[in-house]
Amino acid sequence: MKVRHGPDGVHLFDRSSGLNVLLDEVDSPEPSWSTAPRQVSIALTNACNLACSYCYAPKHRAVLAVDKLLCWIDELNQAGAMGVGFGGGEPTLYRHLPEVCAYTTEKTELAVTLTTHGHRWNKELVSKLRGTVNFVRVSVDGVGSTYERLRGRSFPRLQAALEMIAAEFNWGMNTVVNRDTIEELDALVAFAAHYGASELLLLPEQPTKETPGADGVTLRALESWIASYTGPISLSTSANATLIAPIAEPLPNERGLRSYAHIDAGGVVRTSSYSQQGVSIGEEGVMAALTGLAQMEAV
Ligand code: SF4
Repeated sequence: MKVRHGPDGVHLFDRSSGLNVLLDEVDSPEPSWSTAPRQVSIALTNACNLACSYCYAPKHRAVLAVDKLLCWIDELNQAGAMGVGFGGGEPTLYRHLPEVCAYTTEKTELAVTLTTHGHRWNKELVSKLRGTVNFVRVSVDGVGSTYERLRGRSFPRLQAALEMIAAEFNWGMNTVVNRDTIEELDALVAFAAHYGASELLLLPEQPTKETPGADGVTLRALESWIASYTGPISLSTSANATLIAPIAEPLPNERGLRSYAHIDAGGVVRTSSYSQQGVSIGEEGVMAALTGLAQMEAV
């Protein structure tokens, strides 16, 4: 189990089972607190072979150098991070993905999560990633024709990919919530449950240059759906989603950069993938850049 000290106590985490234990009666003095964020998402590349209208990933070409990335992963592990989440763009387009996942699993205690649209998965990729990824997040916005209209890809092909992923990995579903998907949340839960998902992550659509984001009517409908939810799968939502909903906060004092940071495909650390400002990771490494970002945020 990985052990992390922080303002809420001592946090134990087993990446294989996903078990979290918080010893909140233990007084953990501030000098002993882990300095890395608990979770860091890393955009390996901006490249993606889909073109969702509400995509907020940057559109300029950028890809992380693998040697630098492995050093940052070591640093984050040593500074007490619990996990890294590889995304993009589409992370399966990053040619070093199997090597990076294998390195993280073999050389560190970090949990590895992967966020993918699912349409590049095949037996060869499953075999390369087997045993090196703790949790796969598959983006599924709507079912059937809604999915096909929003994502521009075949729903039956997504189902075939999910059969493969669910047979080998713990997985959860990510859903962008907007006017097109809000009425399909029950169907999405049933779909996720059918394929054995353990979690549904609800992501209210964010504004981009192309779209205004989820409107007030959609957000109120989402709040009311969550309030009456009794389904079989755990729900979660993004930290930046300002919803009036009963959402548990297991680590209420571990906020901001203590909790989460994002590294974009250009090697810039940010408080989230939506944040406009960030700090480039230089020769001093990722922890130095995180310190700089924390100072910038404090001003
Ligand atoms: S699959 Fe994800 S990264 Fe690719 S275009 Fe759609 S939202 Fe953007």
